Amino acid sequence: MSKQDGIATAAEDSDVDPILRIRDLTVRFEMDRGTSRVLNGVDLDIRRNEIIGIVGESGSGKSMLASALLDAVVAPGITDGEITYHPPTDEPIDVLDLSEEARRQFRWEEISMVFQGALSSFNPTMDIRGHFEETLEAHGYPIGPGIDRAAELLNDLYLDPDRVLESYPHELSGGMKQRALIALALVLEPEVLVMDEPTAALDLLMQRSIVSLLADIRDKHDLTMVFITHDLPLVTKLADRIGVLYAFEFVEVGETEAILRDPAHPYTRALLNATPNLDAPLEEMRPIDGSAPDPVNVPSGCAYHSRCPLATDDCEREQPRMESVTGSHDVACHHWTEVDEIPLTNEVDR
Ligand code: SF4
Repeated sequence: MSKQDGIATAAEDSDVDPILRIRDLTVRFEMDRGTSRVLNGVDLDIRRNEIIGIVGESGSGKSMLASALLDAVVAPGITDGEITYHPPTDEPIDVLDLSEEARRQFRWEEISMVFQGALSSFNPTMDIRGHFEETLEAHGYPIGPGIDRAAELLNDLYLDPDRVLESYPHELSGGMKQRALIALALVLEPEVLVMDEPTAALDLLMQRSIVSLLADIRDKHDLTMVFITHDLPLVTKLADRIGVLYAFEFVEVGETEAILRDPAHPYTRALLNATPNLDAPLEEMRPIDGSAPDPVNVPSGCAYHSRCPLATDDCEREQPRMESVTGSHDVACHHWTEVDEIPLTNEVDR
C-alpha cells in the first residue's frame, strides 16, 4: 500500500504490468542547515513498454528520480524506499539491494541511462567505435555482434553507421552525438532507457526530430522509456503518460491526453500556460510566479500554496493526498474540482 493512505492511485492500478514499481522513494542529503529532501516519498508504477514523461521545473527532483532508478545517487545522498524491477521472465529484482557487481551489470543491461549533459562525456581522443567497444568489453559482450547491433541502432537513428563509428566526437554535430549516445545506451539491449533532458542542448528542430525517432526506437526494440524534462510541450509529442513533479513529489500523473486536455492540478495548468507558443499572443503567456521550494524548507501543507491562486487555509495546513480524477489520472490537490477557475490560455498540441 502506498503512503497515500489507502487511496487507489495509478501507482497501484492492478491492471498495469509494471516494469518498475517505485514505493515511498526518498533521497535526502544531511547538510549543516538541515535535511535536504530532494525526493520525498514518491510512488509510481512505470508500465512495460510505455514512454513516461517526468516533468517539472528545475529543482523539482526530476534528475534525482532518474539517478535513484539506477541506484546511482551520488554520496552523501541517501536513498530509501523500494524500487522493484520486473524483468520480462525472471524474478523481480530489488534495485536498492543489489551487490556492487550486480548493480554494475544492471545499469547497462537492464536499465540504461542518458545523463543530463552527457554530450560532453565522450572521450575526445577515442573514436565512436572505441566507445562502443569499451562498453561491450566492460560487460563481457562479444565485440563483433555488439558492433553489428551498434550499426543497426545508428541506422535506426538515421545516422550512417560506417561514418559515425569511425568519427571522433568533435567531428559530429550535437544532434549526431546525442543520437550516438542513445545508441550507446541501447547497445547492451536494456529493457528500460532513462533519459534526463536528452535534447536540452539541441535546437528546436533537432529536438523534435530526436523525439520522433525515439518513438520508433521504442516500438522496434520493445523498450520502456522514461523521458525527464522541464519541457512539457516537447514530451507531450512522445509520452503515453506524464508525471508532474513539484517540490520533490508527484502532484499529477495521467495519460498525456488527459494531462493536456483536462489538467487537474493548478501547477500543471501553470506549466501549460507558461509554455512558449509562437502562435499565442504575448499577453497570454504567463510565467509561473514565485520560485520552487528549498528542499531544506519545504512549505507546510501543500508545497505549492504560496504560488497557487486557489489556495485556502486548508492548503497551508494539510498536505493533499493523491486521488483519482478519472481512471488512471490522479492528482494531489484539495481543490482540483475547482481547477477550471484557472483558465488554460495556451493550447498545446500533441
Ligand atoms: S492543494 Fe491548495 S494550494 Fe495546493 S495546488 Fe491544490 S488548491 Fe493549490
